[in-house]
Amino acid sequence: MPRDFHLETDLMHLGEEDCGPAVPPMHLTSTFTFDGWDDIDAAFEDRIDIPIYSRQSNPTTAIVEQKLARLAGAERATLYASGMGAIAAAILHCVNEGDHVVAVKNIYGPASNLLTGFLHQKMGLETTFVSGEDPAEFEDATRDTTRLYYLESPSSAVFSLQDIPAVTTLARSRDIRTIIDNTWATPLYQRPLEMGVDLEVHSVSKYLAGHSDLIAGLVLGSDADLRAMSPVEKELLGATVSPLTSWLLMRSLRTFTLRMQRHVESAMIVAQYLEKHPNVRRVRYPGLESHPQYDLARRQMSGFTGLMSFEVGTDSLDEVKAFVDALELFKLGVSWGGHESLVYAPAISYARELPPERFGELGISVADIRISVGLEHAEDLTNDLDRALRQLTP
Ligand SMILES: *Cc1c(COP(=O)(O)O)cnc(C)c1O
Repeated sequence: MPRDFHLETDLMHLGEEDCGPAVPPMHLTSTFTFDGWDDIDAAFEDRIDIPIYSRQSNPTTAIVEQKLARLAGAERATLYASGMGAIAAAILHCVNEGDHVVAVKNIYGPASNLLTGFLHQKMGLETTFVSGEDPAEFEDATRDTTRLYYLESPSSAVFSLQDIPAVTTLARSRDIRTIIDNTWATPLYQRPLEMGVDLEVHSVSKYLAGHSDLIAGLVLGSDADLRAMSPVEKELLGATVSPLTSWLLMRSLRTFTLRMQRHVESAMIVAQYLEKHPNVRRVRYPGLESHPQYDLARRQMSGFTGLMSFEVGTDSLDEVKAFVDALELFKLGVSWGGHESLVYAPAISYARELPPERFGELGISVADIRISVGLEHAEDLTNDLDRALRQLTP
């Protein structure tokens, strides 16, 4: 078959050409057997691509990795058992004992804990955090020992952006590696590898899977980097994805572009609705002109997905609680990017440790609400928000 199809077509068929069944069978096997000594011996010659044992390679996973590389314009893709498995592998590939990292301060919490807690204790890794909004911050924070810039743009916590080409140009001039967590935008709407990023990581558990029924992670990058990682960070740390998860993901990717179009359309309707509502103080969403980095967002992204936050018009924790509990369609829970709309209030986690009057010191407001706009009809979602917002005294 010619290999110049559009993305949508490749997400259906790429890697599946030789199969008889419309849906490739799942290779739910731990190991692979060979005819003779010479055959298994030859397989070890190309242990990256020839399946010998499923922690190292699996044909079902290989089909999905081929599609994901195509989606992101990457030379190679490697699936992991979780987003954190992918992030840990990518960071460890880039750093050695005692190295220094410059990271964006509002990155995914466990990634931040990995850098400053675990890897600091285990291998003396030093991390400096910057807001990331001005590329000069990276330059100022760089030391002789800096080996890695770790980005997340937009960050899934406060939706701030980094100027990706500016940061990667600086990094390359200093021989510093770059990793970006691109989970929010997805490779459909932001192309970090084309902007000079070395490794793009994803929590596949969010939009790529899209059905809130699996946990997986992804590293995208050059053939050289991912080949080097395969026998080391992947096989030795062992956060390998299961063939069952890969097979479910293959199904998810068939509807990926369709799902994303709906998330994007509905999120804009919801964001604009919230921005106009008298009981909402402000909305944080890179797709709105009111976002402080809207121009940068337009420059380096081609679409805006469904996770956003807003501040309701009250300082009373009880009123915020009543608002959240009044939502019916938006289910209360962590995570995002699934078919179902979700709501979460950062105050729920913070209130376990701090009195509300101290939230401000951490850049968190009692009134912050985070929502993931799912695939329900947008009008049902705005109606649900409307009902709950009426609970508040304006
Ligand atoms: C959820 C998430 C992760 C972690 O992914 P898991 O699949 O839960 O391990 C990493 N980064 C971001 C931005 C996330 O939202």
